[in-house]
Amino acid sequence: MSSAFKAHGLWVVTSVAFACLSGAGEAQSPSTALNWYRGNLHTHTISSDGDSSPWDLMAWYKRNGYQFLAITDHNTFTDPAALDTNPNDNFLLLGGEEVTNEKTVHVNAIGITKVVPTYTGATATAILQATIDAIRAQGAVPLINHPNFRWAFTARDMLPLKGAALLEIASGHPAVNHAGDGRIPATERMWDELLSAGMRIFAVAVDDAHNFRQEFTIDRANPGRGWVVVRAPALTREHVLAALGEGNFYASSGVELRNVTATKTDLSVEIQTNAPSGSPKRYRVVFIGKDGRELATSLDNPARYTFDGSESYVRARIEDSGGLRAWTQPVFVSPQTPR
Ligand SMILES: [Zn+2]
Ligand SMILES: [Zn+2]
Repeated sequence: MSSAFKAHGLWVVTSVAFACLSGAGEAQSPSTALNWYRGNLHTHTISSDGDSSPWDLMAWYKRNGYQFLAITDHNTFTDPAALDTNPNDNFLLLGGEEVTNEKTVHVNAIGITKVVPTYTGATATAILQATIDAIRAQGAVPLINHPNFRWAFTARDMLPLKGAALLEIASGHPAVNHAGDGRIPATERMWDELLSAGMRIFAVAVDDAHNFRQEFTIDRANPGRGWVVVRAPALTREHVLAALGEGNFYASSGVELRNVTATKTDLSVEIQTNAPSGSPKRYRVVFIGKDGRELATSLDNPARYTFDGSESYVRARIEDSGGLRAWTQPVFVSPQTPR
C-alpha cells in the first residue's frame, strides 16, 4: 500500500476551478504536474487520551506510507516546531488540536500555530461557528468532526455555518456512528444536504486513532483506516492547507485513485487497482448529484460521467468489492454563491 502512493497521475482540474463551470471560463491546462501526498488529519497521543507519544505516532505514519500528519489532541496544541525537526524526510507535521467543546461539538484545527480555546453557546451551531472563526483567524483549516458521535448535531445545525471547510464522513473510530441509525442520516448524507444547499464543504476520512499499542481490533481506535490524499506542488504547510481548503484531494478508507479529471463536460476517475493475487478486486464508481441522487454507476476504469448541466454538483464514490471506498470532492456544474 505504501509504495503505490509514491507514483500518481494528474488531477487536472480542481473542483474549485469549476465553481463557474457554466460560465465562459476555459478549462485549466493540464500541463502543471503536481504531486500526491497522503495524510491523516485526526489522531491522539498521551497528551490527551491516546496511548503513545507524538514521536511514536510520527514513526507509525512514516512507516505506513504517509507524508503528512496532524496530531489533534483534545484541547492541546501540538507544535510541529518541537517534533518535526528533519526537513529532508519527506514527512510534514501540521500544527493540530481537537477543539473539544461542550455539547460534544468537536472541531479539528489543522495547521494552527497556537492553541484554540473552547467555546460555549446556546446551540451546536453557535459553538461550531465560534470555533471555525477562531481557527480561520490563524489561517488554518477547520474540520468538523463526527456529527453522530453521541448524536451531537446534524446537517440542520451545520447549514447556517460560514467558513466551514471540511467535514468528517468516515473514521477508524468505532464509536462515531458515521452510517447513521435509520432516522439520523449517515454523515455522507449530511454532506450532500450541505452541498445541495450551496455550501462549499469538502469531505475527509480520518483515523481518529487513539490505540497504537496492543492488539489492533475492530472495537479499538487503531490507525490506518481513513485518510486523505492531497494534490499539491510541494510538501509544505501552505500548500497542503491550500489543497485541503480548495478541495484538491480525495478521501479514502482503502481505495486508491490514480487520477481525477474534471473538464467542462465531464468528470472521470481512474482507479489504482490493487489485486490480491488469485482474487482480484472489482470496482464500481457511483456518481452522485444534488440531494444525494445517484446519477450513474460505472464499472469502467477510468469511469466517466458527462454533465447534463442540471446536476448542481457531481461527486464520485468509488467502491471496491471488499467494501473499501474512496470519495472525490464535488465538481460544481452550476454557479453557486460561495458560503
Ligand atoms: Zn472527537
Ligand atoms: Zn478525536
